[in-house]
Amino acid sequence: MIEVVLLGTGSPLPDPQRAGPATLVRAGGRSFLVDAGRGVVMRLAAAGSGPNQLDAVLLTHLHSDHVTDVGDLVTTRWITTFAPSPLVVHGPPGAAGLVDGVLASLSADVRYRTTHHADLEGPPPVEVHEIGPGPVLGADEGADQGADGVVIRAGATDHRPVEPTLAYRIEHGGHAVVVAGDTVPCATLDELCAGADALVITAIRKDVLEAVPLPRIQDILDYHSSVEEAAQTAARAGVGTLVLTHYVPALAPGAEDEWRERAAVHFDGDVVLGDDLTRVEIG
Ligand SMILES: [Zn+2]
Ligand SMILES: [Zn+2]
Repeated sequence: MIEVVLLGTGSPLPDPQRAGPATLVRAGGRSFLVDAGRGVVMRLAAAGSGPNQLDAVLLTHLHSDHVTDVGDLVTTRWITTFAPSPLVVHGPPGAAGLVDGVLASLSADVRYRTTHHADLEGPPPVEVHEIGPGPVLGADEGADQGADGVVIRAGATDHRPVEPTLAYRIEHGGHAVVVAGDTVPCATLDELCAGADALVITAIRKDVLEAVPLPRIQDILDYHSSVEEAAQTAARAGVGTLVLTHYVPALAPGAEDEWRERAAVHFDGDVVLGDDLTRVEIG
């Protein structure tokens, strides 16, 4: 079984009910966090997890809404782990610079804590892997020989001018989930999603946003998938369940059916969307 928890379904726009983009995937006793938006550590706690239980953080891209709480992950793992255990971060080129900057911003805190706690050594250990499309975990060893049978591969997405950007395919026990992040439809995403049980993808309502006469809103239309485009991607790739997240505008109470109906025009599988901590079980 693969378990997916939408930890944060928000966007860059502050929302008291929705944390920033972050998705937890648990499989084979392993835990993987895709993106680390605003409030991620609180939502991990609500999901019965925490930074010290993560096997890896997988960053789709370095837009601030997807990485803004990396510092909280770093610090909280460090101070709640009693044997040295690095936070493992996989992300596109630029991820190492991001982590270096986060560690630099924490230097005073690291000094206070290492001075005060005799058993704590600094700086907080973080193991960063800057990656491109290809195997991330277990894939070069074969599914049965991977990390407790978990295989992770990355594929390129298209969120230009933000580049490079990645989606992640997480497989376990004959099932597969793709977490895509922000992207427009593209062939490499279709390829990564082929035959997956579920696709978790950012979706915006272009029909609503097109009517907002603000250049900064109009700018976001050309590098995100609409609900319809997300549904078309899922249909092309033969995905079983489409999970929409990162709602812009925020999903209003009672609006789920309208979003679902828009997707259903193009995709006849299950469509899941909802509040933070919405949980999907695959397999
Ligand atoms: Zn983005
Ligand atoms: Zn985003």
